Amino acid sequence: MKVTMLDGGAFTSAAGIWRRGESLGRQVRFPIPVYLIEVGEERILVDTGLHPGAATDAEAHYEGAENMGNFRLEQEVGIAAQVDLETVTRVVMTHLHFDHAGGLELLPAAVPVYLQRREWEGGRDAEAIARNFYLPRDYEGIVDQVVLVDGDHDLLGDGTVELLLTPGHTPGHQSVRVGERFVIGGDVTHFAAGFDDHRFPIFGDDLDAQLGSAEHLRALRDAGAEVCPGHDPDVLAPGVVFAG
Ligand SMILES: [Zn+2]
Repeated sequence: MKVTMLDGGAFTSAAGIWRRGESLGRQVRFPIPVYLIEVGEERILVDTGLHPGAATDAEAHYEGAENMGNFRLEQEVGIAAQVDLETVTRVVMTHLHFDHAGGLELLPAAVPVYLQRREWEGGRDAEAIARNFYLPRDYEGIVDQVVLVDGDHDLLGDGTVELLLTPGHTPGHQSVRVGERFVIGGDVTHFAAGFDDHRFPIFGDDLDAQLGSAEHLRALRDAGAEVCPGHDPDVLAPGVVFAG
């Protein structure tokens, strides 16, 4: 099996929003990873990066959504230029934030999209949408593709790829274990150091749950797995990130 990190774009924003105690005056450019897992005949995309239209003009793409001015979005090469999306067999969404869900619209309409039930329900609840800064435009077109799971889930039925419920950043955030030694952590922590120092973003759906999820992933790391953080510019780089 093989895992390749693709370039889903980048956002530039104040460091202090994403890591407690950092300056709100210092801007950091955060990579947006998308992962392609190849195992047997399966080609599984984990997250989809920015929508190309959002990278061009976010406020127009999201029809005047507030807060988009807090980010500078960029996308040099869309995911469609990095992987033949027609060959993708399944999509797994760690969560529904715009930097993960934007590319859903680019995928063929028949591809199943795996989500935790509580993430999907949060994404369709007005109060949760506002609290979690979801942008429904990103995912309202996938209603017929959604496959909902509850808790940890053996994706292929053979133990090779497991979805791990890791809530907190959003109500139904999930991570993805590939084999025994590689974990796509998603946004449980944006920075790798967050697994140890718990300096999470200044916003979040449930910080106690996020702490528990970080401890869960830290235990996997301490047992020998490589665990990818969400957006750490010093750690994440496109290319083959796991082969086993
Ligand atoms: Zn997020």
